[in-house]
Amino acid sequence: MMLMIPGPTPVPEPVLLALAKHPIGHRSGDFASIMADVTSGLKWLHQTQHDVLILTASGTGAMEAGIINFLSPGDRVLVGSNGKFGERWAEVCDAYGLNTERVSAEWGKPLDPEQFRTLLEADTAKQIKAVIITHSETSTGVLNDLETINRYVKAHGALILVDAVTSLGAANVPVDAWALDVVASGSQKGYMLPPGLGFVSVSPKAWQAYATAKLPRYYLDLGKYRKDAAKNTTPFTPPVNMFFALQVALKLMQAEGLEPIFARHQRQMNATRAVMRSLGLPLYAADGAASPAITAVAPAGVDSEQIRSVMKKRFDIILAGGQDQLKGKIFRVGHLGFVSDRDILTAISALEAALQDLGYDGFTPGAGVSAAAQALTAA
Ligand SMILES: *Cc1c(COP(=O)(O)O)cnc(C)c1O
Repeated sequence: MMLMIPGPTPVPEPVLLALAKHPIGHRSGDFASIMADVTSGLKWLHQTQHDVLILTASGTGAMEAGIINFLSPGDRVLVGSNGKFGERWAEVCDAYGLNTERVSAEWGKPLDPEQFRTLLEADTAKQIKAVIITHSETSTGVLNDLETINRYVKAHGALILVDAVTSLGAANVPVDAWALDVVASGSQKGYMLPPGLGFVSVSPKAWQAYATAKLPRYYLDLGKYRKDAAKNTTPFTPPVNMFFALQVALKLMQAEGLEPIFARHQRQMNATRAVMRSLGLPLYAADGAASPAITAVAPAGVDSEQIRSVMKKRFDIILAGGQDQLKGKIFRVGHLGFVSDRDILTAISALEAALQDLGYDGFTPGAGVSAAAQALTAA
């Protein structure tokens, strides 16, 4: 089976083997040395000197931790909403009784930084406590302009909370250089790991907010994780085998290097987009606003669910469909984490065969493979 979805993503063999080891006690010296090693690897990945905490949770748990540790009931927050995951942030805020203000854009379009600027500049009373952004909006394949929005947030002084679940490990997310206060991610995306761990980076400014934040918290109280991380342990029993695997995955990432990892994602995004153009399949996100982790395609003249079905049945290649309002309207190709150029070429040849199978005649057979080969060589 070949997973070309935006999580869970493919897992390298050395990582899988680490999962097969016998568990060890989490209060042992052996665990402490793993904890120390993965913590330093996570800081490298986040480009930060500050805290990166590890939770037994999926990405949404890391997002929820980001809300409940730094905010209080009734706090006014601006939430960027241009897809399912931006909307999820807003739902978490609503669930905790925040004064949630959605800053929306049409699905498939990026958030408009100027809308944030206008609202932030008008807020001279400094009632906005946080601006909450999904960097790579997985449901539409759009990469939001976090850097520009963050500049306006910095001028205002509010916290910036970021869902980097499908941008960390795929695109540049320099936590310290951009002074991002809270960055949430999850193991089954760019980390080349199975699902099960959530990660949250926390800035010194966010810790100041933590001291006075009043939302209830217990299992996801990040203060506990910080205190224990200082002693190379965790407050509750962690999935120790996932820590073995995390250690191996971070070593693989470090061996490749951050810039080459970003360049690989960029190259595979460019190739996948070139392919869709050559096949006459419209891209859902515009050039310049496309996520390096995932390409969303809105086909006309051929049904996206049928494409997915043939890809699965004939080739055992799994593509993602549309979510919510996009169900049946788009298919999505994940190129996130442990994906090689060979995987892209394989998926594209299979896609061409599936299109022929379905009687779609909007392309010249071979055009997609040729476009992919060219784009993968060009960079
Ligand atoms: C996958 C994903 C999440 C987290 O989803 P979980 O199922 O909770 O791991 C959050 N945000 C984005 C953008 C995602 O792609």
